[in-house]
Amino acid sequence: ETELIARRDAVLGASYRLQYRKPVHFVRGEGMWLYDPDNRAYLDFYNNVPSLGHCHPEVNAAMAEQAARLSANTRYLEPKLVDYAERLVGTFPAEMDRVVFTCTGSESNDLALRIARLVSGNEGVIVTSYAYHGTSAAVAAVSPNLGAAVNLSPTVRMVALPGPSGVPDDQAASFFEAQVRAAITDLQRRGIGVAALLFDSIFSSDGVWIDPPGFIAGAVEAVREAGGLVISDEVQPGFGRTGSHMWGFERHGIVPDLATLGKPMGNGFPIGAVVGRQHPMELFGQTARYSNTFAGNTVGIAAASAVLTVLQRDGILEKVVAVSRRLRTGLELVAAHSPGIRAIRNAGLFFGVDIGSDASSSMERRMLALDLVNAMRDDGVLISTTAANEDALKIRPPLVCEDEHVDKFLVVFEAALRKCTL
Ligand code: PMP
Repeated sequence: ETELIARRDAVLGASYRLQYRKPVHFVRGEGMWLYDPDNRAYLDFYNNVPSLGHCHPEVNAAMAEQAARLSANTRYLEPKLVDYAERLVGTFPAEMDRVVFTCTGSESNDLALRIARLVSGNEGVIVTSYAYHGTSAAVAAVSPNLGAAVNLSPTVRMVALPGPSGVPDDQAASFFEAQVRAAITDLQRRGIGVAALLFDSIFSSDGVWIDPPGFIAGAVEAVREAGGLVISDEVQPGFGRTGSHMWGFERHGIVPDLATLGKPMGNGFPIGAVVGRQHPMELFGQTARYSNTFAGNTVGIAAASAVLTVLQRDGILEKVVAVSRRLRTGLELVAAHSPGIRAIRNAGLFFGVDIGSDASSSMERRMLALDLVNAMRDDGVLISTTAANEDALKIRPPLVCEDEHVDKFLVVFEAALRKCTL
């Protein structure tokens, strides 16, 4: 194992970080479980890409069948591509009726920024303080979460979220709108103008600050008044993660101009998309060239199509609502007996749990969160951390999580808390 880590470091380099103090090696996945070479089972409460569970047999069969028949690009007539595109936009509000396929969430955001800049004629982008939007030069430049690793673009403005700023719920909307209006004014004064407000509608890297629903509505209006587009990054909340809705922006009662999709769209096969309103999508299509070799290929479409079928047929969203209530109640019970938990936030099966007592320092909180993640890994449950200080637990199981998995998670979580806060 040590030898493998050394070889890995030598050939892959420092940016290939391993999770956990004792890294894990998995050889097989099935549903909610991952298995190591000794066949030890780990309960997955972290991975949102295989949202229908690891190695879903129907998705696998659809991909295998298509791969054995034909793997081809979008320049040929393909009814399955058109069928899926129609079904996908059918899950959006009626005015969002166009789609362009990509391979990753980063490509989706990159394309959305190109569209917003072209349509608005402006360059400025407004994002939240710890947002992450992806890997390309353009989207890394609007991802403050990357910290000193990137130079933020001079055209980007960051806005604070009400939750982490300690703003009470009844003032959240006006607080956020005021931040966005100030950013717009500054961009305009410098002759940059606003192309887009780009936000992850579940604010995952900011620490899952999702409440109160609707707090972004005033900001959305302000951006539109200034000629900018509204882009909802649905890479994390999309495809039913919140349970209450298929898309995270619906929880806030707004309809964006563009939505960017990725991660769970193919349950592991790399496929993403930008779904948008007719005007910006058409204008972009007519003026710019966008061709993406692998995006929308027949195998990816087979995977995505099977995913959508299972999501809708198996009533996954309703199940998410029920099971996430059980997890929330369980976490609240644990929190009632532990000073180690400050707050619990969730929308469906995406939880942020703030770690550390009120009296603890930010360093102590971060260390405790990290200790907890590692203690749970040792006991066979996978989670991670998020938020500006990495002191919130990020709990985000596949959507096929059942009561028995929640109960097992809670037992291990309580034991880890006891161990780490002794
Ligand atoms: N947007 C958000 C909100 C994300 O969390 C991520 C990935 N963590 C991305 C975009 C980028 O997606 P990808 O890694 O597929 O390019």
